[in-house]
Amino acid sequence: MKTILITGSTSGIGLGIAIEFAKTKQYNIVFNGLEPNGQEIADGIAKQYGIEVMFSNANMLQPADLRKMVDDAVAKFGKIDVLVNNAGIQFVSPIEDFPEDKWNAIIGINLTSAFHLTKAVWKGMKERKFGRIINIASAHGLVASEFKSAYVASKHGIVGFTKTIALEGAPFGITANAICPGYVKTPLVEKQIADQAKAHSMSEADVVNKVMLYKQAVKEFVSLEELGQLAVFLASDVAKTMTGTALPVDGGWNAQ
Ligand code: NAD
Repeated sequence: MKTILITGSTSGIGLGIAIEFAKTKQYNIVFNGLEPNGQEIADGIAKQYGIEVMFSNANMLQPADLRKMVDDAVAKFGKIDVLVNNAGIQFVSPIEDFPEDKWNAIIGINLTSAFHLTKAVWKGMKERKFGRIINIASAHGLVASEFKSAYVASKHGIVGFTKTIALEGAPFGITANAICPGYVKTPLVEKQIADQAKAHSMSEADVVNKVMLYKQAVKEFVSLEELGQLAVFLASDVAKTMTGTALPVDGGWNAQ
């Protein structure tokens, strides 16, 4: 069995990715997130798919928590083969009003946590000459939208980080790739729909069609299965020269 650690996996995209890995029955899964029912969510997946799991509520803003999560996972499962840096938050505001604490939280959770966790799993991956780092960036890792300065900076940052560790990992069988989704209907986006509808006095349907999906040629939210199965492929033994990429799964947004 291999072991995968997925941050922010008790909600949204992280949970969707965990389910696709659980279906393969080839992975122990380390769940993480701040949802109060995280342990229950992890236990439910373990029962449904007959796999072993662990849950940690390590906070992405606390490097010592992150190192402890990795140590606990290695103590339980012996190793970590795949790390998915997925936990992330969003905040939307014009730059002149952008709160400093929100900037710091976004950079800390979306970008700096990936640095700490990659560092923590690196030595083991290097020794075993196998590792897969998958970073959940965003279409906003490749292009910008107004009012999302911290988010766009964090996501462009993680694309650069991915490329760097791909180069450093190449001699040791470690690959690193970024997945860049368009809009996925998760709690993070549901909150944005509600906030934007309020801010612009629009209906939620208009926010979805006129503000969000208008950027995508395919006028559909990206599915969790699509992202999860891409991650399963990137984690596989066969995907060994595919490294340093930033892969848009964004309905053609970046083709324009
Ligand atoms: P979500 O809100 O459903 O899930 C986020 C997860 O991160 C939750 O489990 C939450 O508990 C966890 N988290 C947040 N802050 C944390 C912290 N300080 N410590 C530990 N865990 C923390 O969001 P989502 O839409 O599933 O987003 C997941 C990732 O995908 C994010 O990095 C996001 O930027 C990215 N993304 C989302 C979309 C989208 O449309 N939903 C598009 C592109 C990229």
